[in-house]
Amino acid sequence: MKKRIYFFAAVITLLLTTTLQAQELPPKPRPDAFAPEVGQPEPKAFNMASSVDEMRQWDRYPTYNTYLSMMAQWAAAFPQLCHVDTIGTSVQGRLILCMVIRGESSYQNVHPEFFYSSTMHGDEVTGYVMMLRLIDTLLHGYGTNTQYTELINTVDIYINPLANPDGTYHYSNNTIQGSMRYNANYVDLNRNFPDPFGTDPLDSLQPENTAMINYVGDHNFRMSANLHGGSEVMNYPWDSFTSLENPHPNSDWWQEVCKRFVDTSRTYNNNHFRDVTSSGYIAGGDWYVIPNGRQDYMNYYHNCLEMTMELSTDKKLNSDELPEYWRFLQHSLVNYIEEVRHLNNGTQGIGVADQRPLKVYPNPTRDKLLLSEAPTHEVQVFNMQGQQVLLLPAGTRLVDLSTLPGGIYMLRSGSHTAKVVKQ
Ligand SMILES: [Zn+2]
Repeated sequence: MKKRIYFFAAVITLLLTTTLQAQELPPKPRPDAFAPEVGQPEPKAFNMASSVDEMRQWDRYPTYNTYLSMMAQWAAAFPQLCHVDTIGTSVQGRLILCMVIRGESSYQNVHPEFFYSSTMHGDEVTGYVMMLRLIDTLLHGYGTNTQYTELINTVDIYINPLANPDGTYHYSNNTIQGSMRYNANYVDLNRNFPDPFGTDPLDSLQPENTAMINYVGDHNFRMSANLHGGSEVMNYPWDSFTSLENPHPNSDWWQEVCKRFVDTSRTYNNNHFRDVTSSGYIAGGDWYVIPNGRQDYMNYYHNCLEMTMELSTDKKLNSDELPEYWRFLQHSLVNYIEEVRHLNNGTQGIGVADQRPLKVYPNPTRDKLLLSEAPTHEVQVFNMQGQQVLLLPAGTRLVDLSTLPGGIYMLRSGSHTAKVVKQ
């Protein structure tokens, strides 16, 4: 609730005051920056909507204030179905928001949580508009469209349309022209998460990612997707390894999910998802290996089945191309959420097959934890920043957390994991 009050207060403040001063200077790339946006033809037709009304045809990009207004208006119009969480704030103080959609019945039952998050690379904006339109479509379809109604009644849907607002509105709150991949510290947020090797990222953990890590830690997302642009391909885990080195335990399942996504979209427009592979999908590391990405962080540390969706070869589409992209992507995007229900029905077994639960008690605990079986591997304890804070020998059954600050920790022993809360 506190988060909601914060969000509304910020919206009102922003709407009452003038927009933030546009930054006059173009982005100054870091010397070591990997800057694929260079060479993207600009300017194109980036028509901006400076009011919610101007978004009606979905052939414009919202200004920052229009985005905030849209989120606020949906929350006001559908109070029984949704609310807005503030995940956190960016380096420059812009809001990182999440629309939470769930049917009334969900409040009585525990439903799987699903998470979409877009545009952590600020210039990859197709997913941003697709997510806004998805929110609008789901909310307006509730009660009339059977598929959407059932989905909202059985899945708690979290949609974060814009994970890097400083990058998207780098030049000004009123245009996406001049948007950039990085956050305001010129850090690539998708190289800034803890990774399965425990390798420290090049830069310190950025505020946008700290907020995301805390938010994800507060939830139990079973499936998610992380939306990008620059290619058209479904990129499934791992990114940290090639599939020869270390195939994801659910590779077969991922390939089926990706195939369904691509095939569905191709029934609406057969020309897409062809620039990387003919199938339209690939194991991330077989495309190129990256360290410290979010996808692997979610899979490895949170047992959340997250993939990376590259939605458009152009990072920034002409605004009048947006409706066509929605036309061929919308059913795939909705159906992907539905996959989480099949996980629950047991058709795919558990999410991450190599990460079996480690049984510990009591959980939450004030100080000590007991493992129900003596582990055959050493026991590692990680904080939510992915740093190892304790290491105990194999066979240890008693874990003493009393020296650690309160919070959420991940215990790992071999392929067994447990999320524990230290009070
Ligand atoms: Zn990207």
